[in-house]
Amino acid sequence: MKKKVIVNGACGRMGQEVVKTIVLEREEILVGVCDRVNAGKNIMDLLALDAEELIINDDLEKLIRETGPDVIIDFTIPTVIMENIRIGLTNGVNMIVGTTGITEVDLENIEKMARDNKANILIAPNFALGAVLMMQFAAEAAKYFSNVEIIELHHDQKVDSPSGTAIKTAELLNQKRDTMRDSELEEIEKISGARGADAEGVKIHSVRLPGLVAHQEVIFGGEGQTLLIRHDSYNRKSFMPGVKLALDKIDQISGLVYGLEHLLD
Ligand code: NAD
Repeated sequence: MKKKVIVNGACGRMGQEVVKTIVLEREEILVGVCDRVNAGKNIMDLLALDAEELIINDDLEKLIRETGPDVIIDFTIPTVIMENIRIGLTNGVNMIVGTTGITEVDLENIEKMARDNKANILIAPNFALGAVLMMQFAAEAAKYFSNVEIIELHHDQKVDSPSGTAIKTAELLNQKRDTMRDSELEEIEKISGARGADAEGVKIHSVRLPGLVAHQEVIFGGEGQTLLIRHDSYNRKSFMPGVKLALDKIDQISGLVYGLEHLLD
């Protein structure tokens, strides 16, 4: 049976892509769109889609009551995501969350909320299947190379850094690698931050530039060799197969699942 879906953050870059995908592919039914901007306007006009009118609402809780969705897909902003998750889960609605900025403490609270309300929630810092594979390949390589740094590159409108993908990659690397080779060097940072952020020994460097979408390099170094694993999302369509996979499987998970890799066979 087709699922009834609300897209929250529907006017944002990711939200628009999700709305287009659902409307054009017709595998699910878009019952509501929510955003704090453009309330009262028809989203189909905004996106130049030839489909039945759907008015943008700015009150998620009210929209849930009015439309009785099976799933909420959230691509909003880090400062509001916990409140959105609270609204979705306490109303017993399953959620698919791509919004970044969720901390480990947040995850503990979310897990409890999902359990208490018998709702499922899939949170993925990256919905691009290639990026999920990049993280898996990097985790595999970390068994053999303990010296590693991450460069993540995103468009200049991204507010949080490092990216959720970089943080998750560093966590995976740290589960697999030995401690780094001891260096005799006492490093001097002539400009603060030059050596990047430190995620328990894994340096993360964040680049923000117009023209970029979402890219990441994981660079391993060993005696006389380096290994580079790189993934590029050139446009936001790259995230849609992952979002559709999550839509297919959201009923089959139990409580909180963090990371799209858990949905892959
Ligand atoms: P964006 O700024 O273009 O869109 C965010 C939208 O959320 C805006 O339209 C904004 O008006 C809306 N919004 C803000 N507060 C809201 C609220 N309280 N209720 C409803 N709507 C609200 O951002 P974007 O590029 O679309 O990215 C959205 C989020 O998704 C970011 O956190 C980004 O890092 C993340 N992201 C995740 C993935 C992934 O694969 N997981 C990929 C790309 C981006």
